[in-house]
Amino acid sequence: MKQSGLATPLQFLKGVGPRRAADLERAGLLTVEDLLYRFPIRYEDRSRLQKIATLRPGQPASITGRILSCGLRSTRRPGFKIFEAAVADDSSTIRVVWLNQPFLRDIFATGQHLVLYGPVEMRGSVSLQLTNPQYEILDDEEGETIHTGRIVPVYEKTGTVTPKMQRRLVHDALEKLTPELPEHLPEDIRLRLKLPTRYAALHATHFPPEDASIDALNHFETPAQRRLIFEEAFLFQMGVIARRRAAELEPKAAPVRVDDRIRESARRVLPFKLTDGQKQSLKEIVDDLQRPHPMNRLLQGDVGAGKTIVALLAALVAMENGLQVAFMAPTEILAEQHYLNIARLLQPSRFRVALLTGSTPAAARRERLAEIEAGTINLVVGTHALVQGDVAFERLGLVVIDEQHRFGVLQRATLRTKGLHPDVLVMTATPIPRTLALTVYGDLDVSMIRELPAGRLPIRTAAKPESRRDEIYEFVRGQLDAGRQVYVIYPLVEESAKIDLKAATEMADTLQESVFPQYRVGLLHGRMKTDAKDRVMKAFAAGDLQILVSTTVVEVGIDVPNASVMIVEHAERFGLSQLHQLRGRVGRDRHQSSCFLVYQSPLSEEARARLKGMTETTDGFEIAERDLLLRGPGDFFGTRQAGMPTFRLIDLVRDRELLDVAQREASSWFDRTRPSAAAVGRLIETWEERFRLIEVG
Ligand code: ADP
Ligand code: MG
Repeated sequence: MKQSGLATPLQFLKGVGPRRAADLERAGLLTVEDLLYRFPIRYEDRSRLQKIATLRPGQPASITGRILSCGLRSTRRPGFKIFEAAVADDSSTIRVVWLNQPFLRDIFATGQHLVLYGPVEMRGSVSLQLTNPQYEILDDEEGETIHTGRIVPVYEKTGTVTPKMQRRLVHDALEKLTPELPEHLPEDIRLRLKLPTRYAALHATHFPPEDASIDALNHFETPAQRRLIFEEAFLFQMGVIARRRAAELEPKAAPVRVDDRIRESARRVLPFKLTDGQKQSLKEIVDDLQRPHPMNRLLQGDVGAGKTIVALLAALVAMENGLQVAFMAPTEILAEQHYLNIARLLQPSRFRVALLTGSTPAAARRERLAEIEAGTINLVVGTHALVQGDVAFERLGLVVIDEQHRFGVLQRATLRTKGLHPDVLVMTATPIPRTLALTVYGDLDVSMIRELPAGRLPIRTAAKPESRRDEIYEFVRGQLDAGRQVYVIYPLVEESAKIDLKAATEMADTLQESVFPQYRVGLLHGRMKTDAKDRVMKAFAAGDLQILVSTTVVEVGIDVPNASVMIVEHAERFGLSQLHQLRGRVGRDRHQSSCFLVYQSPLSEEARARLKGMTETTDGFEIAERDLLLRGPGDFFGTRQAGMPTFRLIDLVRDRELLDVAQREASSWFDRTRPSAAAVGRLIETWEERFRLIEVG
């Protein structure tokens, strides 16, 4: 470590005193390695800086020159100031302006040597100016070689650490670096993929050679950049695979056996014919149950694909083997819905089902806990409190976690700390694009149900401006008269929560009083007490309410097959995946269902793309891919995911193909070299630290 120089604290670089070191630390930069593993955000070709006399309007340009004069100027608009400078090189002089940045007064001074990069504009009819250019002030001796006269890296400014400061530090750090860096990549893989060494890659990434293509650099496609990205992806995949292999060594209480009697018992509870996707997934799950190590499986399937019955059949197999099952849902409403459904389906069986949620009264709760511990209850449905709280099972064999990709991974960890190694099945209706699945769920096996049960008609989707609300109501009337039910959804975004709540409340009133007085309208929102929410939800499920106006609480999992219209208000505010989830609340039966996306004009370009995506396809996987492209991985899950790795270089969208290659290479490396359990353990440790994956499973 020491001799390579990567671990050297930045304080040992030239010009870094305690104060600057503290600034760097705040920017997340502690060591030379931190510094060198932060990519530039872009590259600028300053090898051929333009002469001022040759500038043409309409093009961005890089120039270098000295300040002849500069100063702050007021404008006619009160409070609006312009900072102006005359900058000259040996060919000519140009006016440079920065709008509304009065602090520049303290930064620039006559005589300074600058590099400027920005758009060249016409000023009046004859002269040119540079407007709001990026700037760097060159200190005299080093300026020429590091900051100009070559392709230079431009770093993101973090806190007080400027791009230029980083460039100089990187330059220094690279000079001190010894060529014998420990190589993370197996040599055969590196050579086969034609990737440069780590040392060469770090140099060429930060200070590209003269013949490098500026275009390739800015697309992060040079061999040097690809090597560093691949390195991160490969290490990440190695860790993922190591964790998987370690999990395969964990023993579980008892592998399950399947025989004809069990198959017959499954057939008895099955109310319909399974789709091919359901059959295939069930087979994969039951195969896992029969293995000696615990299952870690994700069951993906679009909304309405029928995941519940698959999970229930797996549960049945476990119960027939004398094991208990915990079935967890993200909300009480959903837990209750699952409970009713499962209890009904298991009626012809000898198994006992119980519901356990936060609102189970204390006495009943105590009783159930005792029965669970004694093993007389075979299947418990509840919220995630089920594994977190004081529940002790007699023989827990299978945990099913519904609609909770967010917590599923964490819950597995919780179980493990309790010394339990049950089979775990996580179900999600948020289809996850392949690359994300590889990273977030890299150590899970994945089953997929791609088709919907037969007889479902694809949902018709239309985006409509607010002004055409009447047409929608006309249509809704027809559906209500035919006995169907309707959802009206309002967005609830934190900062405008109050206004939105008001809008939803007013809409419920208007619909009830003026638009559909002959039907019953219910209102559901997040600020209601749990039992009030439950009452409304149940009334809607029972058909006592025909229209449900709601904020997004119905988003996950609610199953009211008779509902055939989904109206999403302010559809422009929802993400694609979220819209898709909402749409999935209808189309759950044989009725033709419709979804109206009501928007406020004017639409932003991105919102237009989202709404278009929704009208063009109903395939959840395709929607997820589009969503990822539109929003980027950071926002894909709304907030940062528990268990989402922190990458230094990888961009999950840009680097998909490299991630794939890394996954294949890492897995074949494992197969070829068969590392020892101790080596695997070490790998997992460094891996969890490096990717900051604390306790995710
Ligand atoms: P999700 O995958 O969204 O959780 P559910 O399990 O709630 O979907 O199933 C949606 C609806 O489809 C339920 O009403 C369920 O009974 C029904 N269903 C599931 N599988 C089939 C099938 N193979 N044939 C007919 N209906 C099915
Ligand atoms: Mg479901």
